[in-house]
Amino acid sequence: MLDCAIIGGGPAGLTAGLYTTRGGLDNVTMFEKGLPGGQITMSSEIENYPGATAHNLSGMDFMAPWPEQCQRFGLKHEMSEVTRISRRTDGIFTIHKSDGTADEAKSVIVCTGSTPKRAGFVGEDTFFGRGVSTCATCDGFFYKNKEVAVIGGGDTALEEALYLAKICTKVYLIHRRDSFRAAPNTIARVKNTPNIELVVNAIPEEVFGGAMGVEGIRVKLQDGTLHQIDVPGVFVFVGNNVNNQVLIQEDGSFLCEMTQWGEVKVDLNMKTSIPGLFAAGDMRESAPKQVVCAAGDGAVAALQAIAFVDGH
Ligand code: FAD
Ligand code: NAP
Repeated sequence: MLDCAIIGGGPAGLTAGLYTTRGGLDNVTMFEKGLPGGQITMSSEIENYPGATAHNLSGMDFMAPWPEQCQRFGLKHEMSEVTRISRRTDGIFTIHKSDGTADEAKSVIVCTGSTPKRAGFVGEDTFFGRGVSTCATCDGFFYKNKEVAVIGGGDTALEEALYLAKICTKVYLIHRRDSFRAAPNTIARVKNTPNIELVVNAIPEEVFGGAMGVEGIRVKLQDGTLHQIDVPGVFVFVGNNVNNQVLIQEDGSFLCEMTQWGEVKVDLNMKTSIPGLFAAGDMRESAPKQVVCAAGDGAVAALQAIAFVDGH
């Protein structure tokens, strides 16, 4: 019987592992289907984690010491894919794994993250991390005083376009229709921002560039012609998949309360609607989707998990 099962080994899961073990829980396992580190390991550079001041620090190098630090305090890492978390009537959780085996735990911290959707244009994957980005907070600064393109017509695309407009000289907001899904006041703010140019009824066809990265994007207009926009950065905000599959029960319901967008509802202590079940990082509601925030969530959830286990 585990004191705590941590599902996912990104910044939230690893921090939860550090705090639970160092805080006195004896039997904690972190289930991570791949190598620990999470999605930041895909980033070529991180420069907004406080104290991580090394020049050109890659996400991979940044995360490298985290697992070893946790293991020093007794965190066990199992390289397994969790398929489902269920809860018995006596409150004990079962961690079901893809190899057909299962473990039991008194408490669970779920930190499986979320995955931005791709738009599917040519060059999107090739140039991902080299000019194509899904995070304005992370990468906007690299385009300070330059022009960028934003793809999408929802709240995220428009809010991120407004954020980028404060850093960049110009933002081309590319949307495949001429009406936006975003909140009316957000649309109004975008339309009133002089350095945002709307490029509507435009379907992204191809991002092009060279060894140094992106040089521009070609979009197909309504009349079938291709229009080229020369920018070094293209930000894609076409929706987000929350990795919440482990919470789906056999009858299709979720183990705990979720938002309408599939994020886990939590309070300020990262408590879900189910006692002993905590959620941390990018998968919880209103997550800022930053490493420092995911790590903070993991610490909060761990302290609460310790109190929960001690109380039982
Ligand atoms: P994740 O990092 O997504 O980790 C979740 C982990 O759970 C993954 O390792 C995954 O393999 C595992 N997992 C998922 N499902 C299962 C399962 N069923 N069983 C077992 N394991 C599972 N943030 C910044 O602060 N600064 C930046 O500069 C920055 N740049 C970024 C650049 C890129 C290219 C990307 C993609 C993201 C960037 N971010 C940045 C965002 C940052 O990476 C995330 O906010 C952060 O990683 C979220 O941490 P997390 O632990 O919640 O989730
Ligand atoms: P979203 O609402 O699903 O919008 C995605 C946008 O991307 C849509 O405009 C869509 O176009 C476009 N799109 C999808 N696939 C595309 C493709 N392959 N190529 C080009 N364009 C594509 O996603 P979101 O903006 O991330 O928002 C998700 C949810 O969170 C929404 O319900 C939103 O309201 C909410 N949210 C709220 C706030 C807030 O309240 N402040 C902030 C952020 C997000 P179409 O319009 O043509 O389908």
